[in-house]
Amino acid sequence: MGKTKHTGPVKLTKRPDPSLWVSKVPFGLGKVKPHHIRDTMKVVWENKDNLPYATRILTQGVCDGCALGVSGLQDQTLKGPHLCTTRLNVLRLNTMPAIKEEILHSDIEELKKLSSTELRKLGRIPYPLIREPGDDRFRRLSWDAALDRIAQKMRSLDPKRYGFYTTSRGITNEVYYTLAKVSRFLGTNNIDNASRICHSPSKTALTRSVGVGASTCNYKDWIGTDVLLFWGSVAANNQPVSTKYMYAAKRKGTKIIIINPYYEPAMDEYWVPSIPESALFGTKIADDVYQVNIGGDIAFMHGIMKHWFEMEENVPGSALDHEFIEEHVNGLEELKQKVVAYDWETLEASSGITKERMLELAQLLAKSKSAVFVWSMGLTQHRFGTDNVSQVANLALLRGFLGREHCGLMPIRGHSGVQGSGEMGADPFVLPGGGMDKDNRERVEQIWGFPIPKWQGDIVGVSLENALLPENHERHLSLYYLSGGNFLETMPNPDFVERCLANIDLRVHQDIIFNTSTLVDAKEAVIVLPAMTRYEQEGGGTSTSTERMVYFSPEIKGPRIEEARCEWEVYVDLAKRVKPEESDLINFTSAAEIREEIAKAAPNYDGIQHLKNRGDLFQWGGAWLCEDGICPTPDGRGNLIAVEIPEHRKPEGHFHVTTRRGKQFNSMIYDELDPFNAADRDDVLMNELDAAELGVAEGDPIVVYNQYGMYKGQAKFVNIKAGNIELHWPEGNVVIPQGVYEEFAGIPEYTTLVIVEKADSFYAHKDMKYKEKRIEELEMEPS
Ligand code: SF4
Repeated sequence: MGKTKHTGPVKLTKRPDPSLWVSKVPFGLGKVKPHHIRDTMKVVWENKDNLPYATRILTQGVCDGCALGVSGLQDQTLKGPHLCTTRLNVLRLNTMPAIKEEILHSDIEELKKLSSTELRKLGRIPYPLIREPGDDRFRRLSWDAALDRIAQKMRSLDPKRYGFYTTSRGITNEVYYTLAKVSRFLGTNNIDNASRICHSPSKTALTRSVGVGASTCNYKDWIGTDVLLFWGSVAANNQPVSTKYMYAAKRKGTKIIIINPYYEPAMDEYWVPSIPESALFGTKIADDVYQVNIGGDIAFMHGIMKHWFEMEENVPGSALDHEFIEEHVNGLEELKQKVVAYDWETLEASSGITKERMLELAQLLAKSKSAVFVWSMGLTQHRFGTDNVSQVANLALLRGFLGREHCGLMPIRGHSGVQGSGEMGADPFVLPGGGMDKDNRERVEQIWGFPIPKWQGDIVGVSLENALLPENHERHLSLYYLSGGNFLETMPNPDFVERCLANIDLRVHQDIIFNTSTLVDAKEAVIVLPAMTRYEQEGGGTSTSTERMVYFSPEIKGPRIEEARCEWEVYVDLAKRVKPEESDLINFTSAAEIREEIAKAAPNYDGIQHLKNRGDLFQWGGAWLCEDGICPTPDGRGNLIAVEIPEHRKPEGHFHVTTRRGKQFNSMIYDELDPFNAADRDDVLMNELDAAELGVAEGDPIVVYNQYGMYKGQAKFVNIKAGNIELHWPEGNVVIPQGVYEEFAGIPEYTTLVIVEKADSFYAHKDMKYKEKRIEELEMEPS
């Protein structure tokens, strides 16, 4: 933790710098690029029925898009307007009216024909609904009846047989905290959140490496650092305003390095709409791009470190920051032994990067005085995600890039609420203010006034699987209470997930809109509860950005949905119905009261209790965690972690596959076409050389398959590392194995191996086995 405070936004120079331009042709005419003005006009049109409210949300609220963080139109990094099309696209969720009654109560089979995008566009959920076996449509229910039904079921179950899940859809810290408390009050540790499938390895790895699972620095540290590395992160697409910070960094001479299998166009060139010269002529972002194999990052980082150790042999002090290591770091010898034992052939084969290229990055970092490492799902969504992130921390610790200006480790978050979810305790491994260890548990018990269950709760993937356990198993999931989320589109193997969801007695979907999972049957009932957005909640709410800024978002005057309720209030109401005899132990009556308690239960959040007006904010932990190299670990030192290169066992003819995002916000898809590379959702991004070997031409229908599933799409040639392909997420989840979780953080593995085949030859194989032929055809064949 640090004593230095963030100093607030800085001004961007207005003087243009033609050396950064993409081209002198204005507005990137003729290039594949987003059309921000056209997209903005589309959003204005979509929100035309509610424009004053939409404007108030944008100018007064805290963005419910990504976790870059902005209050109104002002952020803490740069002066000037902060707005992007992601926020504009999400805006409609807040302004649209309720679903029309005749559609809401239409035949369930008709609703099931709609995609999540189509369901989202129907409008908001207006009042509680129920559907039981045999019902061909949802029926209206009162809140009392709905909550009584859920409470009655909970009372009949051992708490190990029910669980809670919460997504990040604009959800506030107050809601997460209340749910964390209510679930323990009800006796269950089965509570998990959306970060399980995105940054849980970042939190786990950073905690073991530097003692704290959050970004150690600020976006301001990007501006003027010597090197800014994006590792498996397409921030330009997922956190669009970050490109403005990248532009500012370039103006200060920062080198931007991209490490990714696919040479992502958005990280190479960008037209930042709020900067006139960039909007007109574009900005060249990437100084260098390293196209690593999917899953080859650990080997790449070993290669960088191996070069450093070799440089040290030749010229001591030429690569490592010995002073920093001596004073602040453990584990150098063990790491060195591990790294130098790998030969270059192994490192090159695993990473896909040559020894010479690794040397270039090793030398660049060795001569740099500062660096910020930013990463995302490209590092975390692996069977070895925690090791990937600890490797990044290893690089930073060996060079002393920690705890000071222009240095740090930043797991950049994609959803506005997700940073706070774990910090508030909506997680099976943590409580507010710390882990589930005896000391923290007893401390929180003192504050809460009731015992916290001691058994280990399940992560979301395991909770789902538990639905298929035998009925009499003590962990058979009989009731799942879901606040948002759509596991059919976010978890691997959608068919398996659907079977799990359908095998739960009672499923509760507390949400603002329908998605495909809301419509899956349940054994006893599906109950749908209408939630408020963050802008509708009385007393406002807070959310925590990637850089640990806790922003206050006020209640904003505007139209309201008939019976939508504030989620923390619903949890309190439910808890009182399940355990009326102890109801005085869960008694929040206002958001301010919750913030008062958060400040006590999560000491890092001391200050949240003072947030009450539009624009109020504070940053927990100060500007830099681990300031001056002092880490919040038991001995105050950072830990180098010696990790193994993962075993890939890629058989001949197979490809590494991973998923990528297009024009979407998490799993919500806003356009079929990716504005950065003109890829369709079902395009399979592949290298032209790989395609040539398979006899595949651009646009050819192809099949991507493995033992887990099959995906049909068409070939799109892009500059991706040979031997690797990318599919869009969540569509590509059909080829991802179910039940493979990362050892330390429990994230499902979202990368695997596949075979790619031309569709006609794939079906020809099947035809030879007579699987595709119609009976008449078979009968007509001469014997
Ligand atoms: S970059 Fe993120 S925080 Fe900023 S406006 Fe866009 S979605 Fe919101």
